[in-house]
Amino acid sequence: MPSLSHVHLFRRISLFLSLMLVMIYFMEPVSKANAAANDEERQETYEQLKSGKRIWTDKAYVKPEQPTVYLTFDDGPSKLTDRVLDILREEGVLATFFMLGEQVETYPEKVRQAVKDGHAIGNHTYNHKYNELYSSVATFWKQIEQTEQALDEAADVRTKLVRAPGGTFGNFDAFYYYYLDQAGFEVHDWNVDSGDSKRVGVPASEIIQTVKNGPFGDEVILLMHDGTGHEQTVKALPDIIRLFKAKGYAFAPLSPQVKPVHFSAGKIKWNRSVGQALHNKLSAEAGEQRLVFEEWNAEQEQGSTQQEAGGLQVQGPAEEVWSVQEQQVLKGTAFEGNNRNVGNQSMPFAPLEIILGSGKLLFEPGKYRMIDGHNLVPVRNLIEAMGGHAEWREGQHTAAVHYGSRVIEYDFSHHEMRVNQGGKQTVYHLPQMELRDGTVYVPLRKTVELLGSHIVSYGVDKDNGRMQVEVALTGGYAFTYGF
Ligand SMILES: [Zn+2]
Repeated sequence: MPSLSHVHLFRRISLFLSLMLVMIYFMEPVSKANAAANDEERQETYEQLKSGKRIWTDKAYVKPEQPTVYLTFDDGPSKLTDRVLDILREEGVLATFFMLGEQVETYPEKVRQAVKDGHAIGNHTYNHKYNELYSSVATFWKQIEQTEQALDEAADVRTKLVRAPGGTFGNFDAFYYYYLDQAGFEVHDWNVDSGDSKRVGVPASEIIQTVKNGPFGDEVILLMHDGTGHEQTVKALPDIIRLFKAKGYAFAPLSPQVKPVHFSAGKIKWNRSVGQALHNKLSAEAGEQRLVFEEWNAEQEQGSTQQEAGGLQVQGPAEEVWSVQEQQVLKGTAFEGNNRNVGNQSMPFAPLEIILGSGKLLFEPGKYRMIDGHNLVPVRNLIEAMGGHAEWREGQHTAAVHYGSRVIEYDFSHHEMRVNQGGKQTVYHLPQMELRDGTVYVPLRKTVELLGSHIVSYGVDKDNGRMQVEVALTGGYAFTYGF
């Protein structure tokens, strides 16, 4: 009945068009109103900053479980940095280096070594010149970017940690804090000054004595220097480390999770101002920087998963690995050009269909993950479709899966997976699993096999563009429970 279907089609099109019109009608004034609200908001922000009010984005910091000291070294890297790294290695402690872009360009290998040793790197601007950095926030911002680039080139590192040369007191106003915060940087002053730079050549004994005076709070951020001329700091360092060890402190590098110390405002020593145009420009640049960080965060997460996978002790058959060609077919052309490594793409575009006996489980793109060609799927969906059940043990940070006589525990606090069956336990260290936004993702093939089933086939269904995995439910485990 072609005429009927034409009428149908016509109705659908007109319905669609009227809906569009209604949407456009409502959207237009709304977006204008939004723009106006944004302008108003920006103006308000500008006025507040101008009045000296500091504005922060909401952040959650983590308080360490034991007293912790964060050793920080400013103004390097220099010829002294190697010796500092040696001492830290000998003492088995980690620290933070707030580096100058200029120095990073001179000693890139020392940056790489510090990174390799596990220390945190911070941005201490490019050239440390107060009269340049504090005569205009635009110059400060530019030097942060220059140093970022230098660190990227030297050691492929990016950092959210920033320390203001000379500290923020009397130097930073609300505008300085605002753009850095908006961009996602954390500005760290300190709460214990070793006094190693109050004049040239402060002797080691005096530095140690100053540190001994504390104060010794739960989180000590200790200021020291490894720039040229700070031989006495290097000399004092072993004693300083032992002092904190004796007091029971843990040592840790700074991270964005550490609540920063910010000095009170103080009277600004500099004569400068921020106009509305510069404010708009820097706000926009801060927004761009935030996006760069977000992208970087995503890469980091993938990177750490891959590292863990590197330590995976594979027992039994390997997981299915999708070829690069298959993944490209699945992703279409959308990722071309911006996808450096197809094998690492963790958010494939195609739906994943899992055939489980007579049932089916479909994951839309974004609802499962793919790491190095392995599918990771939400454990609860998988196990329930197989006829088992999953539970989350909050206190242990562990997901437990019950299937027949088997129990698998995905332990995120110890980064291990334990398989229990018949009173026997097998432990897998650093398995490929992820906890993301409250969902536990587990490797499909490995999980299926550990539950006594196996994958019959997998491939791309070219007709519907889905990835298809067929699982044979063996051993009669499915639906043997009353639930
Ligand atoms: Zn400095």
